[in-house]
Amino acid sequence: MKIVAAKSILKFNDQLAAENRARFNALGLYVVNLVGSPGCGKTTLLEGLFEQLGSRIAPAVIEGDIAGQVDADRLKQRGIPVVQINTEGMCHLDANMIGVATSDEDYSHINLLVIENVGNLVCTSGYDLGEHLRIVVLSVAEGDDKLVKYPNIFQRSDALIITKTDLLSFCRFDVDRVRNDMQRLAPEAEIFEVSATRGDGLAEVADWLAARCTSAAPAASTD
Ligand code: MG
Ligand code: ZN
Repeated sequence: MKIVAAKSILKFNDQLAAENRARFNALGLYVVNLVGSPGCGKTTLLEGLFEQLGSRIAPAVIEGDIAGQVDADRLKQRGIPVVQINTEGMCHLDANMIGVATSDEDYSHINLLVIENVGNLVCTSGYDLGEHLRIVVLSVAEGDDKLVKYPNIFQRSDALIITKTDLLSFCRFDVDRVRNDMQRLAPEAEIFEVSATRGDGLAEVADWLAARCTSAAPAASTD
């Protein structure tokens, strides 16, 4: 019975995710699972956010990709500690990969760990990684119908960041429609609009994230 097998795999994943979360809590590490399609602007968003956060927050990143390390290289150039996970064909990260990737890392001086998931709007929604916050990214270029077509990932996210707003005049994208769909699917979720290349809206997201990070991680090392 394939359905039973899939459920038990996810149950096992949930147990590993709970172990990860307990370890992150003990370290005072606030963890974000960043999801979205390939090319929606996740890495560019991170570059802009880390610049905005400045010395307020000490970040580290786990990059999930099927192959290569181009995003990891971009962040390393900015002095951000990065671990690269190559899934070799697997289309999502799971809690076991995160457990292995973080097990021998020194996060004693890190407040915020961002996991940039494999670009995928489908099965990333089913795998808890042990994160505290899930942020879904949707770029204006992808179209405004994605919440209706891929509801699970939006439903299970704590925030939606609409990216590439500098392209709004070139794309058929109704921001109000997306906001309404998100409010219907995830009434508690925060919604932001940014253009990371122009810098629009980044300060608001950075302030919100810094507040979440500091209030949720009282054990964080501050020296
Ligand atoms: Mg990326
Ligand atoms: Zn997958």
